[in-house]
Amino acid sequence: MKLPLTGTCLCGAVQVTVSALPLMTMACHCRDCQKLSAGAYTLTTMVPRDSFSCTGDLVRGGLHSDGRAHYNCASCLTIVYSQVGIAPQRVNVRTSVLDDGAALVPFIEVMTEDKMPWVNVPAMHSFARAPASLDALHALMDDYAAWLS
Ligand SMILES: [Zn+2]
Ligand SMILES: [Zn+2]
Repeated sequence: MKLPLTGTCLCGAVQVTVSALPLMTMACHCRDCQKLSAGAYTLTTMVPRDSFSCTGDLVRGGLHSDGRAHYNCASCLTIVYSQVGIAPQRVNVRTSVLDDGAALVPFIEVMTEDKMPWVNVPAMHSFARAPASLDALHALMDDYAAWLS
């Protein structure tokens, strides 16, 4: 994978750069993601916060909950990234904004209990909801790092 990863929102006003290898790639099939994305699932590339930079005006989208913040381009409203409250050291970049999304095949898929029945994602690991614990997620990140190399 060639670094840095770069990307833009639909209109190009927001530009993102990721200078480190991703920690995880995933597809989420939950109903919220279906509504947010107007698609069958969202694609996320999880990266270290300190490897991520973003220029351009952003607004909060989604549910404005305490636990999860979605940041969208202020002009075209593309979802650019999310920040999860319990993991301030990581950023969930929407794979769809990254230029090399084709290389970022989802390693895990989550919330398959909400999956559209005609969707087939070639993920290495599938979860009806999510990995059972933070430790389980960290073990998956180790597997992903090994898989990348
Ligand atoms: Zn935009
Ligand atoms: Zn979701």
